[in-house]
Amino acid sequence: MKAWKLHGINDIRFGEAEYPVPKDDEVLVKVKAAGICGSDIPRIYETGAHQMPLIPGHEFSGEVRDIGKDVSEKWIGKRVGVFPLIPCGKCPMCRQKKYEMCRDYDYLGSRRDGAFAEYVAVPEWNLLELPENVSFEQAAMLEPMAVAVHAARRGTDGFSIPKDAAIAVCGLGTIGSFVIMFLREAGYKNIFAIGNHGHQRDRIKVFGVEEDNFCNAETTDAEEWLAEKTDDLKVYFECVGKNETAALGIKSAGASGRVVMVGNPYSGMSFDRDTYWRILRNELTVLGSWNSSFQHEEDDDWHYALNRIADGRITPVAMISHRLRLENLKEGTRMMRDKSGGYGKMVVVENGKF
Ligand SMILES: [Zn+2]
Ligand SMILES: [Zn+2]
Repeated sequence: MKAWKLHGINDIRFGEAEYPVPKDDEVLVKVKAAGICGSDIPRIYETGAHQMPLIPGHEFSGEVRDIGKDVSEKWIGKRVGVFPLIPCGKCPMCRQKKYEMCRDYDYLGSRRDGAFAEYVAVPEWNLLELPENVSFEQAAMLEPMAVAVHAARRGTDGFSIPKDAAIAVCGLGTIGSFVIMFLREAGYKNIFAIGNHGHQRDRIKVFGVEEDNFCNAETTDAEEWLAEKTDDLKVYFECVGKNETAALGIKSAGASGRVVMVGNPYSGMSFDRDTYWRILRNELTVLGSWNSSFQHEEDDDWHYALNRIADGRITPVAMISHRLRLENLKEGTRMMRDKSGGYGKMVVVENGKF
């Protein structure tokens, strides 16, 4: 089969690879759509993967073509989404069904072969059957959507804080934009979006944020802008992973406000004394949000997102800016590395254009 293999840092090659053979509890998935994640970029260009050579790609959907001997035959031919984390099932986190915090996990596309290939082997446990009206490219975005659902729920106590609460989302990449999408869908109206590219404005407009509530931090002082918009910010979502944007949240949150850390940190994080004081004096709650819940239950983050795609309550395809063919993956990863060309979500699909 054809696949992209990461051999070392900044050494990813397209070519022939062995067909994966599903183990007893696994299925063989023909990949139909695979998103490029922001985390794939440092993995390919800066840090490498845990183990190499490795086929990256963890945001994907496809069709089950073969099954291992312990897998139910009902899966053959099924359209599926895939939870990419393979938990150990034994640690204290797993025993509480908090698989996303497993201490000894495997991971498709970062620790074992993933989806930038024609086929991938996936444990049956990780499959999510797709309703007919959910497209493969929508399902390939289930992972970032579930991560956004997780963060949005953490920040709003399961969407229980008042719907008129002032909420800021800083960082309008895929996760931040999807956080906005789910907040809007849950009924929140006062959302302030802070990005760093003009093109992000059009995308968040689709998710229901007016132009007036968008700040381009490249050209506007975001702290002043936010202070003008609200004097009682209840929740701030940090979806960038930088010192300044984390500090902005701590400085901007109102009394008893919440600051939700979502973005993976680019480098060391530290705060000056004044910023730190705000945590104490405003009695802020600083929350971490990590990955997403998947428990084969209707209410987990994956089913929450899937149900809303299925009944048309959300429009995640608005995030897709590029549809690439598998062989052109590198055009996409390069654009993301160089932050060029005003991209949103890039998805590898069978009849992509790039
Ligand atoms: Zn991802
Ligand atoms: Zn575990």
